[in-house]
Amino acid sequence: MSEYTMSIDGQQLSGSQTFDVINPATEETLAQAPECSDAQLEAAMQSAQSAFASWRKDEDARRKLLLAAAERLSAKAPEIARTLTLEQGKPLAQAQIELQTAVASLKGAAGLPIPYEVTQDDAKAKIEITHRPFGVVAAITPWNFPVMIAMSKAAPALLAGNTVVLKPSPYTPLATLQVGKLLNEVLPKGVFNVVSGGNDLGSKITSHPLVRMISFTGSIATGRKVAESAARGLKRTILELGGNDPAIILPDADVEKLATRLYWSTFFNCGQICLAVKRIYVHESLIEPLTAALTKLAQSTQVGDGLEATTQMGPLNNAMQLQRVIELTDDAKKNGAKVHAGGERLGRKGYFYPPTILTNVTDQTRVVAEEQFGPVLPLLSYREIDEVVERANATPFGLGASVWGTDVERATQIANRIDAGTTWVNQHVSLTHKAPFTGAKTSGIGLASGRWGVASFLQTHVINVNRG
Ligand code: NAD
Repeated sequence: MSEYTMSIDGQQLSGSQTFDVINPATEETLAQAPECSDAQLEAAMQSAQSAFASWRKDEDARRKLLLAAAERLSAKAPEIARTLTLEQGKPLAQAQIELQTAVASLKGAAGLPIPYEVTQDDAKAKIEITHRPFGVVAAITPWNFPVMIAMSKAAPALLAGNTVVLKPSPYTPLATLQVGKLLNEVLPKGVFNVVSGGNDLGSKITSHPLVRMISFTGSIATGRKVAESAARGLKRTILELGGNDPAIILPDADVEKLATRLYWSTFFNCGQICLAVKRIYVHESLIEPLTAALTKLAQSTQVGDGLEATTQMGPLNNAMQLQRVIELTDDAKKNGAKVHAGGERLGRKGYFYPPTILTNVTDQTRVVAEEQFGPVLPLLSYREIDEVVERANATPFGLGASVWGTDVERATQIANRIDAGTTWVNQHVSLTHKAPFTGAKTSGIGLASGRWGVASFLQTHVINVNRG
């Protein structure tokens, strides 16, 4: 029997079958995860539905329980961080940061308001805008930040009074299963269920009639399938999808000053971040010094097993993603790209690919036009601002973007012309609960994070009283 169990109706359950989870640093089987059967999924849905009736009633109790869940998770964070490194590949210090971010999501949600507004209160009428939970929320997560993304969905959904059925990626289910077990020691049974299995389990969840709302993070291709499934039941959705974030480096940028921040905005988590910098447009006067600075950083980055203390960048998470990175880089090379660092898979076991810096690519080269989701960075030069804004926007993606320059006011004006959910100035991948997180164009639908995130998990209910 696997040591990893699903949380269903407050119980810890094995699946009737299991599937292997691979350690990407060794390519060896790390553990077996339970495969959720149809009957177990039904039990999770029924349990979430029946727990909803009492969970929705007491907002104060929910806030207290979210704080208790945060404490419980915080106490076990070191153990879960180790599991996360083993199944995901990221350096242990970064896994610990991910756990702390998950704890912060639970704590932060406990303090967020449930929106309420009175828009008229006079002799004629009283109009109240109230909000209520949907019921059972399905949460489906990817493999790059499994624990952080799971809690960024569960915490606001639960605060809002919904109950949750969560499914992690089959590549990284283990840490999430551990989180499910811990939270079930604190939360009432059925409020937070965690089930594991393959992609087909995802579609069974989204099409389940008890699910009223779906919060999904993953690729655009899967996001489309989730949207199609949700459309049949007219279910609410939040879709947080892929990106191909441009960074625009203005002619007055200080290359020495920005290089390290720009580098890690690209290569953190081995480039497997929806919001990573995925293509750099640098003014032609700066392409040489910027390429040199980034190449130096790439060549000095310690790539290795996430459990080794010196590792700065781990492997890619899975063989398919490694193949994709190899394919896109080889395509670029075949089409004349110049490789300044990396460019070949490391000759060792594990899905390791070194930080790779490319120039001599065009907007049409696949590694520029598509989301690489790995440690490969193409740099392209531009001459005019109007030209670079047009090129940055000429894509179906619209998640994040950034503009870097010394004249912050000018950089901000240019940022205002970018089609994205977030455009940063002199930084990238900086998330905060003080702002909503959203994607433009095909990068997503709906708002997450902070009070906007809580509102996404609530149905508006207007009470309009005639006093005439
Ligand atoms: P994926 O789309 O392959 O899988 C995501 C999840 O969906 C997994 O749990 C998977 O099992 C499940 N799934 C697969 N088919 C399904 C179906 N038909 N119905 C329901 N669920 C299904 O994505 P991935 O490869 O795990 O993650 C990488 C992608 O996620 C990248 O494109 C990245 O940009 C994106 N991402 C986006 C954000 C964001 O917030 N915008 C954050 C992280 C990752």
